Order: sequence, then structure tokens, then C-alpha cells
Amino acid sequence: MSTFSSFNFNGVKALVRVDFNVPLDDQFNITDDTRMRATLPTLKKILSDGGSAILMSHLGRPKDGPTNKYSLKHLVVHLHELLGAKVFFADDCIGQSATDAAAKLQGGEVLLLENLRFYKEEEKGDKAFAEKLSKLGDVYVNDAFGTAHRAHASTAVIADYFDANKKMFGLLMEGEVVSAEKVLHNAERPFTAIIGGAKVSDKILIIENLLQRATDIIIGGGMAYTFLKARGGNIGNSLCENDRMDTALEILKKATEKGVSIHLPEDSIIADKFAADANTKNCPSDQIPDGWMGLDIGAKAIGIFSEVINKSRTVLWNGPMGVFEMEKFQNGTKSIALAVADATSKGAFSLVGGGDSVAAVNKFNLADKVSYVSTGGGAMLEYFEGKVLPGIAAIKK
Ligand code: AMP
Repeated sequence: MSTFSSFNFNGVKALVRVDFNVPLDDQFNITDDTRMRATLPTLKKILSDGGSAILMSHLGRPKDGPTNKYSLKHLVVHLHELLGAKVFFADDCIGQSATDAAAKLQGGEVLLLENLRFYKEEEKGDKAFAEKLSKLGDVYVNDAFGTAHRAHASTAVIADYFDANKKMFGLLMEGEVVSAEKVLHNAERPFTAIIGGAKVSDKILIIENLLQRATDIIIGGGMAYTFLKARGGNIGNSLCENDRMDTALEILKKATEKGVSIHLPEDSIIADKFAADANTKNCPSDQIPDGWMGLDIGAKAIGIFSEVINKSRTVLWNGPMGVFEMEKFQNGTKSIALAVADATSKGAFSLVGGGDSVAAVNKFNLADKVSYVSTGGGAMLEYFEGKVLPGIAAIKK
């Protein structure tokens, strides 16, 4: 494995796996270019060294080969605007047109290849397809952390066709990997994991893995009520997975055995319906009357959780504390975001990962007050479940 920052790309054709899976409207305008922007530092370094970049990505989920709807050609103009460099487009990611366009590419220029998923071989991790792609560049750079949990041709298999000193993470991917490893393998203690969101079933593997590592686990959001009911509480009409109550009890038992403190919300903001204009009141989380449901953590819970976060040296946050999309139920998530920001300002390392908690820190304008906000989504979740991500393993071996 080579290190991207110390690599001199002068005269080198870098084959870069990016995640340009951006949303497009009916007119093929990009409605959110975050993913394109995220990889700009990597591309700018290659180009400013005097290298050229051949970009490969997927876009959407095309079913049966090429379609205009999923063509990456819609991104060319905006990519040119973002980079200020010449951007060429190859209407196939392999074959003669791609080979010719790659061969002609000069230093400082970019070639965007057509959607990899127009070939079924991409998602199948087909070796011959990966080998064809590999021939287009001198070195392989993986900057698509969002697909690192997939053993696809362009995200993992392709790395086998490059020598160890010719494959590397791009800056975005490196940032994700370094942050994730710091939390999972080198966390300074106390290490608090804050897990929220709707369902226990989605987060069991993460909690089980974190039981081996964290000192404290804060459980909030809809998933907390399955734990509270399993412990004998009345949770009214709150979200509950009755078939996960045994798992919840097992998690609580394992935590006690391992000396990990699990913190459930002492009180909740309860509502008489799941709606922005519901009537609300504060209530102990295990005494919720029938017809009412817990949609946010209450003031006592915020106080206790914030104290735990405040004492931490490492904080991992995945999942909101309540239905933060509605103003009446956003206070818990916002207060926890502020506590994480506060702990960070006192020197803690904080990583926010997973869709909705990332949306929450963005909503409350706190993204630059935490140490790292992962763009990884599913890949980050699988990493925290303790799984080996093929995209990382392929570069490291
Ligand atoms: P997840 O994708 O599992 O992280 O869940 C995120 C979703 O959980 C968000 O859309 C929240 O609105 C929702 N959520 C959080 N707390 C609750 C709750 N107490 N009751 C119902 N939904 C919740």
C-alpha cells in the first residue's frame, strides 16, 4: 500500500474509483453535489502534480445495461466547473473508446468513464471486467468509501491487478479509514457510543461489537423503548420490536458482565400522535400511558447523557435521539449534538457516522464542531459492526 499524499503523480494516469452516485432531477440537474465535492481534494492533488485522472463510478441502479437516465455524462459540465480542468467523457467504461480516450489523456486532464453498473460484471466482482478496467491507468486510487463494503469489480477486485506500491486510498477514503480505525481500535477511554434511531434490529451488531470496546453506551431514539419495555416498563404506544426484547435483555446482561454502562433515557417527551402538531408532555420513559408515545428524550435524559459525553475522550454517534425532523421532537438530538461538540472542544475525538445523525449535525450547523463526519453511511455501519470491508482490505493486502 502506498500513501496518497507522498505519491508524485507527475506523468501518471491515476485510475480513481469515486462515488459520484449523486441525485439528479428530471432534467438531469444535480440536486446535491456533496459526493462530488468530497473527492475534489484527491483529484486536485493528482492534477496539480501533473498527473491525469480517469474517474470511474456508479450512478443509480440501472437494471438492464445503458440508459440515458443513469448516464454519467450528465455530470461532465459540473465536474469541469468544480475542477476548472478539461473533462472528457468516454461513453463506455471499458472497450476501445475508453482505451483510446485514456491513452490520449494529458497531465492536468480528466476522463470520466460511463457508469460501471451498465455492466452486470461490476456488482458481481467479475475478474475479467476488473482486469480490463485496470489496464486504463498506471495506479489505482480508491476514494469511494461509500462503496467500500461491496466486493465489486471497481471497489475491490481491481486492486489485485496493481502492485502494492501502485494502489492507495484517496484523501477522502483515507480520512474515513483513519477516523474509523481511531475509534474502533485506538479509542482513548472513556469511550462513549451514542446509538439512536428507529430500530433495535438495525443496530444489534453494532451494539454487540461496541460492547467489546466502549466504556459507555447511550441508547436513545425509538429503539430505546424496546429496551425499556423488556425491563418491565410501560411504554404506551411507543415504537417497539416485541420480537427483539430478548435480544435487548441479553445486551443489557452482557453489558453488566463486561462492566459497560448502558444509559437509557430516564424521561421522554411523549406525544398523543405521531405528528408535528401533537400534544406533548414530559414523562418517565417507563411510565408512558396508553395512547401516548415517546418521540424524544426528556430533560433529565439530556442532562445525564450530556454528563457522560462530557467526560468522554472518544465519542461515536450514530442515530438521532428522537424524531428530529419535527421541531417539537428535535431538542434531544440537538442537545446531544451540542454536548458532542462541547466534548470535542475539550479535546475528545468525535466521529458522527450514519445517515440520520449526519443529517442532524448538518441541520444544527455543528458539522465543523465535531472531529469527523463520515460520508460512509452503510460502509461505516458495517465497519462498526466489526466487518472487514472489502474495499479497505483490497488496498491493504
Ligand atoms: P435510523 O435510520 O434507524 O437511524 O432511524 C432514524 C429515524 O428514527 C429518524 O427518521 C427518526 O425520526 C426516527 N426516530 C427517532 N426516534 C424515534 C422515536 N422515538 N419514535 C419513532 N421514530 C423515531
